[in-house]
Amino acid sequence: MDENNLEIRKSSVSGKGVFTKRPIKKGERICFMKGKICTINQMSALVDCDLEEGSDPLGIDDELYMDLDELHRSINHCCNPNSFLRGKNELIALRDIEKGEEIFYDYSTTMNDNKEKIEKLGGELWTMECKCNSENCRGIVSQFKDLPKNLQNYYLKNKFVPNFILKAFYKN
Ligand SMILES: [Zn+2]
Repeated sequence: MDENNLEIRKSSVSGKGVFTKRPIKKGERICFMKGKICTINQMSALVDCDLEEGSDPLGIDDELYMDLDELHRSINHCCNPNSFLRGKNELIALRDIEKGEEIFYDYSTTMNDNKEKIEKLGGELWTMECKCNSENCRGIVSQFKDLPKNLQNYYLKNKFVPNFILKAFYKN
């Protein structure tokens, strides 16, 4: 669908969020996540200078990030998401989404950070306290590998993860 059907408003969960102005069908592409591509070194530098919240860069490949623009960085995390990342940066509806609903994806499905390298660059692995209030809220958002095994399997089997996560974790 067209990105013009998305709008930033006060979120039900925290700060700002992104809402759809029209219904979205399960499997439909909501948008491409957009921003400047940056390496792990560039990303660390941005975060260090406080130019960037730790939550802004989106992992799109091994040690490759996207410094998201305002619309796309405003999409919130939820432990019970209604969308997911596919391929490199396609955001897809995981179920039917009603007009006026807030869009969420599970941030952990895009997180496979190189801890050693980030620490060498003087940073630390990003985590976030979650207040999504869903029944299965994990309380903390962290790396994909830290998700409960059954949840990892659910995301992998349904291919509700971007390619680089699939490549790293999906075993036939
Ligand atoms: Zn949660």
